[in-house]
Amino acid sequence: MDIMYRSTRSDSTPITASQAILRGFPEDGGLYVPTAIPALDTGLEELAAMDYKGVAYAVMRLLLTDYTEEELKACIDSAYDSKFDTSEIVPLKKSGDAWYLELFHGPTIAFKDMALSILPYLMTTAAAKNGSGKEIVILTATSGDTGKAALAGFAGVKGTKIMVFYPKHGVSSIQERQMVTTVGANTRVIGINGNFDDAQTSVKNLFTDQALVEEMAAHGMQFSSANSINIGRLTPQIVYYVFAYTRLMADGTIGAGDPVNFVVPTGNFGNILAAYYAKRMGLPIGKLICASNSNKVLFDFFETGEYDRNREFMLTSSPSMDILISSNLERLIYHISGDSAERCAAFMKALKETGKYTITEEMRAQLGDFVSGYADEAQTAAEIRAVFENDGYVIDPHTAVASSVYRRYRKETGDVTPSVIDSTASPFKFEGSVMKALGKDTSLPDLELADKLSETAGVPVPKAVSDLRDAPVLHDIVCDREDMRQEVRRFLGL
Ligand SMILES: *Cc1c(COP(=O)(O)O)cnc(C)c1O
Repeated sequence: MDIMYRSTRSDSTPITASQAILRGFPEDGGLYVPTAIPALDTGLEELAAMDYKGVAYAVMRLLLTDYTEEELKACIDSAYDSKFDTSEIVPLKKSGDAWYLELFHGPTIAFKDMALSILPYLMTTAAAKNGSGKEIVILTATSGDTGKAALAGFAGVKGTKIMVFYPKHGVSSIQERQMVTTVGANTRVIGINGNFDDAQTSVKNLFTDQALVEEMAAHGMQFSSANSINIGRLTPQIVYYVFAYTRLMADGTIGAGDPVNFVVPTGNFGNILAAYYAKRMGLPIGKLICASNSNKVLFDFFETGEYDRNREFMLTSSPSMDILISSNLERLIYHISGDSAERCAAFMKALKETGKYTITEEMRAQLGDFVSGYADEAQTAAEIRAVFENDGYVIDPHTAVASSVYRRYRKETGDVTPSVIDSTASPFKFEGSVMKALGKDTSLPDLELADKLSETAGVPVPKAVSDLRDAPVLHDIVCDREDMRQEVRRFLGL
């Protein structure tokens, strides 16, 4: 069956997967969704005997139907290789009552690597398939994590260039150091005098700058986006749910068909949406537990049916979840409104105009698989400590939010279904908050603190951090917002 992609907001003509990956998002401001959700057609027993790449192919081939077997396997082989520091790719660790799915063994030690290590290959393949043959130029504004993961994914990939703008005074020193030491002639990193919103707004304007777009086309180049709404990022995320489930089968914890709950620390709703798709594809998932930090707009939505972004934005120890507009929720809204672009568009219009919308009772009734919860700063720190004191396992603050929500869910409901917690970042990425939660001295410089954490956790400092020790700074341009366009032209040789 050929799966095509259409917009959540209008009944435009469906396009192929490779076209949707290349375009990123439709012109009407919606998101691409599959016209049908395919069923897993490889048996669970068979999947349990495959390695990560095997499972990736068995799952992704169902959604990216216009890629040939050869094309898709080449993308998978290029992505999940020795860039990951373990051949398992995503190890599953048992601690206490839960399993932690470590999605942070890629080059930037956070889960965004799972998708951003394959996206560049899916995109260049898409460009070749669709006869554009143009060089792909990725422009990204970042508040820290996505920028480095995108740089790591695209650096050195033929047929692509990547340019990242970050707020010069708005990222952590480890994050800045990670970005400005990026190697690769096709990369450029620029600090801007302004905040993340300034960078983001200017990047959006550049994407639609007609004069620039035409000038690039004349030189054989086109923009594309590595944003988390790209289906080229969503699809690879479905894979690790199937992988985790089948690992629990392989070690005898469950039998094929038994339910497993997944607990997901959520920001933009991309990761948990992938779990929802996995369930709809037939993976026997019990509950999808959506965990928020103090920015609990999603918790309130699941509790009341009202999504309301009109509230104070809080900075927390889990910054990658500090979000008030969870973009990918739009896809869930589309599905529960009966795959109706018209109804979905009306909700999104209300969100844009008033900052809120309320779904119908009939729509709420379809959310029975979701459970939601949140953890505040004190609960998050207490969870890091509790998990460590239990058996010496150290988790990062994002993972701790999910772990805390799960602990209370299990106690309150008595649901003892085997449960997997998505572990979305290495504790080394947020070592200050982690060591503080563990009651340690945090006054040391970054890299010395990493050594202390290594001693405490009994795990080696990840290469992504130790490599920073003597990596030279290769990117030192800082510019004003008004000069970003000129910097883009300079980088592209226009
Ligand atoms: C991006 C991110 C999240 C949130 O994932 P979404 O797909 O946006 O919900 C959680 N934890 C970490 C460490 C992240 O980088």
